[in-house]
Amino acid sequence: MSDNRKTHKASCHCKAVEFTVLLSNEFNTIRRCTCSYCSMRGAVAVSAELADITITKGESLLSVYQFNSGTAKHFFCSICGIYTHHQRRSNPHQYGVNVACIEGVSPFDFKEVVVYDGVNHPTDRQSGPITAGVLRYSKQ
Ligand SMILES: [Zn+2]
Repeated sequence: MSDNRKTHKASCHCKAVEFTVLLSNEFNTIRRCTCSYCSMRGAVAVSAELADITITKGESLLSVYQFNSGTAKHFFCSICGIYTHHQRRSNPHQYGVNVACIEGVSPFDFKEVVVYDGVNHPTDRQSGPITAGVLRYSKQ
């Protein structure tokens, strides 16, 4: 596959953790998720392949949180607490990345963010991922 994807720089809030990421499909995979963890966390995530994230600084400062099936691994900075990325439960070959950590990107840049129905997780059901709804941001 010809790869002309852009390498994005990213960091947590306190910048103790820095990483670079190639996104699977740029910002076309942005979504929110309704699972118990994501709805508290509130972040908008975007997909990247496991090999396409490189932690360039502060890897030892990353903490990991797992719950329920333990398949998903949610990484966050142990200093500032900001979620950086997670190994996905619905596709363990991919990470979800916090778009707000990516340099020059704000979660408010996107008018519509798909909401995944993480309460009824796709791997708890037989059929594939479903979309629960769309959040609409209105630009002033
Ligand atoms: Zn931090």
